[in-house]
Amino acid sequence: MEPKSALSPSRCQLMPANPTGGRGDPGSPKELARALTRRVGRAIQDYTMIEAGDRVMVAVSGGKDSYALLDLLEQLRRRAPVRFELVAANVDQGYNGFRSDVIEEHLKAGGFRYHIEMTRIAHTIRTKMDPEDTHCSLCARLRRGVLYRLATELGCNKIALGHHADDVIETLLMLQLFNGQIKAMPPVLHAENGLHTVIRPMVYLWEEEIIRYAKAMEFPIVCCCCPACGDTSLQRQQIKSFLKRLEEGHPGIKHSLLKATRNVQLPFLMDPRYLTSSQASKPAPASDERVAEPV
Ligand code: SF4
Repeated sequence: MEPKSALSPSRCQLMPANPTGGRGDPGSPKELARALTRRVGRAIQDYTMIEAGDRVMVAVSGGKDSYALLDLLEQLRRRAPVRFELVAANVDQGYNGFRSDVIEEHLKAGGFRYHIEMTRIAHTIRTKMDPEDTHCSLCARLRRGVLYRLATELGCNKIALGHHADDVIETLLMLQLFNGQIKAMPPVLHAENGLHTVIRPMVYLWEEEIIRYAKAMEFPIVCCCCPACGDTSLQRQQIKSFLKRLEEGHPGIKHSLLKATRNVQLPFLMDPRYLTSSQASKPAPASDERVAEPV
């Protein structure tokens, strides 16, 4: 019988001490690709992200993360013992100057199946929101809606997003500090509509590694052209620099935070839903999510 998911035979290690396994120059693109695909393969296997017969829509924004995701998944697809398909999809948000043509050229040159969707997300945000407000939550929700619709239209049962380990721990901290919730980004998320499954194959990769890989591969990165892009007053940017400072002073902190998402001790928190009746009796208040997902 064919294994359910068999892209990688070994079990997970969140952060191997030597990611290249002792082979070659760890900085060379080839060794970097080897190390990154291995960990993407482990994440896929650990969380059964891809199964035989899947048609996976890869959301390609034109940023380093999504280019890396598409490239690494394609490398795994070519040598995987199970057959699955990839379709790249770009959502053009409609900001002036966005170079979807550069993305299209890259996808064509790589021989990918792809689709580019023109939208009026930028217009909707401009007309619906106060310029002083943070637009990221609405923007992320609108894009997610377009991606779900596109997945159906393109016949894809899964949607792969380029979130990485830094995104996971930043979200973990943001939701605690600004939303009063302990939650992050699951590697696999089944949409409430029962039709779509979102997967995040890069949850074991750090942003720094992806930046190095994107440089080595010379991906044609394009700016999303959103006026808020790179705004250092955004909560996520602040958490990012906070974590960077902490990591410099205490190496290993980021790894420990990521590990914590796999080591939840519910009886030691205060949520009545997860305590025994002798510990608590009232239900927890409904959640109120306001923190935006990363671009
Ligand atoms: S910074 Fe990114 S997520 Fe925020 S509004 Fe702009 S494009 Fe959307």
